[in-house]
Formats: sequence, structure tokens, C-alpha cells
Amino acid sequence: AELKDYLTRITAAPFQIQGDDRELPPDCNLISVGRTRLPAQYGIRSDQLGLEKEGFWIRTKGNCLFLLGADDDGIQFAAYEFVEKYCGVRWFFPGEHGEEVPRRETLRLPSIDDRQAPYFKRRTMALSREHKDTPIESDYWRFGRKWKLGSSLRIVGVHTWGQIAPPQVYGPTHPEYYALVGGTRQRNWTKFDGSHEYQLCTSNPEVVRLAIEWVRKFFQDNPGVDIVSISPNDGLGFCECDRCRALDYEEPMKPGELIEIRSRPHPVITDRIFTFANAVAEGVAATHPDKRLLILAYTVYRKPPRRVKPHPNLVIQYADNADFHWDPQRKAERVGMLEQWAALTPNLDIYEYYVWGGHHPARGLTPLIAESIKRFHRLGIRLFRSQSRGDFGMSGLNYYLASKLLWDPTLDADKIVNDYCDTAFGPAGAPMRRYFDRLDELWKVAVEKVGTEATPQHPAYYLASYSPAARAELKALLAQALASARTDGQRGRVEFLTKAFRYAELSVEGVEEMLELAGHGVIEIEKDKGIFASPTQIVSSKNPGEWAPAERAEARRRLDEAIQKWEERARFMDTIKGQYIIDDRYARSSDVYYRFNPLEKLREIAAAYDAVGQ
Ligand SMILES: [Zn+2]
Repeated sequence: AELKDYLTRITAAPFQIQGDDRELPPDCNLISVGRTRLPAQYGIRSDQLGLEKEGFWIRTKGNCLFLLGADDDGIQFAAYEFVEKYCGVRWFFPGEHGEEVPRRETLRLPSIDDRQAPYFKRRTMALSREHKDTPIESDYWRFGRKWKLGSSLRIVGVHTWGQIAPPQVYGPTHPEYYALVGGTRQRNWTKFDGSHEYQLCTSNPEVVRLAIEWVRKFFQDNPGVDIVSISPNDGLGFCECDRCRALDYEEPMKPGELIEIRSRPHPVITDRIFTFANAVAEGVAATHPDKRLLILAYTVYRKPPRRVKPHPNLVIQYADNADFHWDPQRKAERVGMLEQWAALTPNLDIYEYYVWGGHHPARGLTPLIAESIKRFHRLGIRLFRSQSRGDFGMSGLNYYLASKLLWDPTLDADKIVNDYCDTAFGPAGAPMRRYFDRLDELWKVAVEKVGTEATPQHPAYYLASYSPAARAELKALLAQALASARTDGQRGRVEFLTKAFRYAELSVEGVEEMLELAGHGVIEIEKDKGIFASPTQIVSSKNPGEWAPAERAEARRRLDEAIQKWEERARFMDTIKGQYIIDDRYARSSDVYYRFNPLEKLREIAAAYDAVGQ
């Protein structure tokens, strides 16, 4: 029905949907979708397509167009590919103006014989929920299908040690299952949320046995899952017992290499983690030889092992952080490690961070995305997942480019971006291409200036990339684009990105107001660059009684300016709600979770001034 809808909008010609059980009207052109009786009538053996999972075959024969798929995913992708590639439809973001449907008098098809299958078997962003058998099909997932996002493998879980040996079950009777930290087995079970800190003592054979049993039970209960995670909890807190320690290698990680261990050195525990994972994989292979286990290469076990080779049934998830690859040293380290891992195993699964906290402004990542995905392809890696959100005004082009390259990493990234600009903006394509190029360059400036010690959501990065001069330039490009746009769709898309820019501008101006207040001694702000730190956090404020009356009035006026800016940002966020410009829910929750938004605190301080009086 969606296919018919698009075709009708393109040509305004009548299309009819016919069930396979009905007689077809004579003398008309046919489109056969999926498993109908038509392929056989036309001499096509649809039971022997020879397609990989999610693959499809678009072909014409006589008066019939066939949209054939290896499976349901493939059939759906065939239909989307047909309207995109052969009819000129494009999808930029969900919602109004998010798609371009060109009008044609007649749709004349060339002879088509187009077989495709995705190179990456897992192409997952938040747009493409892997568990599509759950009842709610989110907007993101439906939209992501148009970009052919998806996965032919079902992969479940990340940090699972809390489930393998639940402390409420074994904690009281078997403290030896849990990590020895600072001379005692971890006992504060209230802190054990199942996914953070509080690790297991993996050199204990009983813990290995529990893990094997847990995995077997999991696959018994979830036979449709291909891969389940047996990875440590997030954060540190790893066991310090002699048997665990004996497997580690000492190579103090440098400051900045890892946020969690900025202050103290930590041994590399990869051999210990893979000794455990190999033992679990071997045990599980005896009963479930076709199932695989996911293990992270992360934090203090990101560096490759020195003595242990990963079991063939392990899939290793590697956090790439391509967004920081403008830093040559960081890039050399991360790429070097990835190459070492790729030499040890073909089973790598990339984890990317195209989005961090939901509140940060747009980052142009297209050169980094293109380079990194092509590198994964060269290394033979076929699984990929990135953090992403419904923030198409912020990251839409990043996601678009990644989706195209995940399907076919041999495509030319520059051509993809040009096609995006031409089809989305028409005559405004040139200034918009310049706009996106500037965003790419400005993210590079930010990384070069700030370094890689903070997480990319830290305001230091966007103070560097969205300088007043850069803001003026970006604004001018958007204005130029708006003036050049001809159709409602083109104008609507420029306006969509203009709103995204306005959000960035208000956020940066809000941060600048805080620096201003600090500069005038009204408040003291957080200077740390840790994951939860931001200069919008107020460490202390000057007692209003300490000012001379005139200075106090001046400070109060400055507070008001800052409050008004943050109120303006809040009002603006309300006006763009539900439009996929930013991810409303995630942006709001990140404001709170990362303590980015100072509005409440500013109001409290202003009230204290008012209590002192003028
Ligand atoms: Zn131990």
C-alpha cells in the first residue's frame, strides 16, 4: 500500500493492488511484490534467488516489474530501493517536508536487473530497533527502514554480569563470586544495579559455570536470538585477587586515554576478560554450537590481549569513537588497536557515538563517518551499531550518509552528500553544501582546540566550534539558502535546519552567559571536563550582601540576562517539539542528567538577591 501511495504521488496514474488469488486484468503493466505466482509464470525461480539475508532483486521482464526479496526485509527494501533509485524519491527526515517525491508524467522504466544485499549485516542506529517483534513500531524504526537500516542477526544485551550472578541470589552465601576490591569482596548490593561497577571474580571456576548455565538458559528461552552478551558491567571495580591479577598486563594507561582513570594507572585486563569469555564460549559451544556470545572491548580491556586468542564463537564489540579522529594521536591509537583486533578475529562489532548527550548542538561528522566505515569494510568487519536519536536537525546528514555506506561501503561519500543537497534543497543546494562543509570543519576545529580528554558533549567543544564569527557565517549561509529555495519542500527543509541552528545558537549563548556571570564574580562555575561536568554548573555564588548596592544591582541585572536566555531556550525547545529537529525527550533528559541546564539554580540565586533588596 505504501508503494502504491508513492507511485500515485509520482505519476497520478491509477495503480491497483491485487491479491494473488484474483484474476489479473489483461493488457496492463504489473508490479509483482514478493512471493506471488507471477515469477513462476515469467520463468523466474523465486525459490532459488541466491540472495543473502535482507537482500533483494529488482528486475523487469516483459510487462512486469519484480520486487523480489530473500526474506520479508529484502522485499521491503526492494520496494524502497525501487522508488528511491528508479523513481527519484528521497527521505531526509521523518515528518513534514522530510521527503521529496518528484512528479513524472509517465514512469518509463529501463530494463532493470539489480541484485543487492547489505555489506554490513548489522546496521543499527536508534532508528532501527532490532527487536521489531515488540508491539510498538516506533516512528524511528519505520523511518529507518526507508534507509534500509536493520539487522539480519538478533543481538541482545550489553552489560550482563549482574544477571549472570545476581547478588541478591548469591551475594549472602557466595561473596567469593564477586570482585575483591581494596581487600574486601564487594558487598554493598544496593549499589549493584546490574549494569554499573560491581564486577565478578572471573578466575573462580564456579563463576564460569554460572555464566555457561545462564547463557544456555537464555538461548533455551530465546531461541530466536543469535548473539547474547556476556560482558562486564559498565565502569570499573574489577577484581584484585591474585588469580585474576595474574592474567593482566601492566601498561599504565595515559591520562586522557580513558575518562574513568584519569587520575590513577590501571592494568590492562583484556587477557583476564577473554580467559573468562573463552571458557564460557567453549562451554556453550558444546550445547549451542551455532550461537555466539558478545563481549565488549572497552575501557581497561579495550587493548588487545597478549596471550589469549578469542574463541571463534565470540563477537567482540569495539567502541570506535570516530568523532575524535581529528586528533592524530587518538586516531593512531584507536585505529591501531582495531587493526590488531581485526587480525585476531573476523567477528568484530563496531559501536559508534554519532550522538552523546542529547543536548549538544549539531556536529558535522561526514568525513569521519565515511573514512571510518570504509576502514571497517577494509578490515572485513560486518557488524555496526551507533548511538543515535531522533535529532535529524542535528545529525540527519550524518545518519543519512552512514546508512548509505553501511549498505554499500564502496559508495562515494562526496556524491552521497551532493545528492542529498541537490535533491533536498534544489537551487539552494550549493549554500547548504557549504553549510554542511562548515559544520564538518568546525567540529575539526573543536577537537583540535579542546583535545580528546572530555566527552564530546562538553560545552568546551561547541564554544570552540560555534564561535560568534562561525555563527554569523552559518546564519548567512542558511539565509542565502532560504532565499534560493524554490519549492515548499526546499524551503521547509532549510527552515528545519535553521531551527536546528537556532537551538545550537541559544545553547551556546546560554553557556556564554554563564561564563559572563563567572567573569564578573557573580558565580563560580565548574571547570572540570569530566563526563558530568559543564561550565553551566554553578559551584558557588557570591553572597548578595557582599556587594556594594550599585554592584549588587548590576549583578542582579546580569543574572536576569542569563535567566532570560535560558528561558528563551526553553520556550524555543517547546516550539520545535515533535518535529525531529532535536530529540525532545532525550535533549530534555540530558539537560537534567548531565546537569547542563542551570535555570533553576539561577532563579534561586536571583531570589536570594531579591531577598536582600536593592
Ligand atoms: Zn578474582
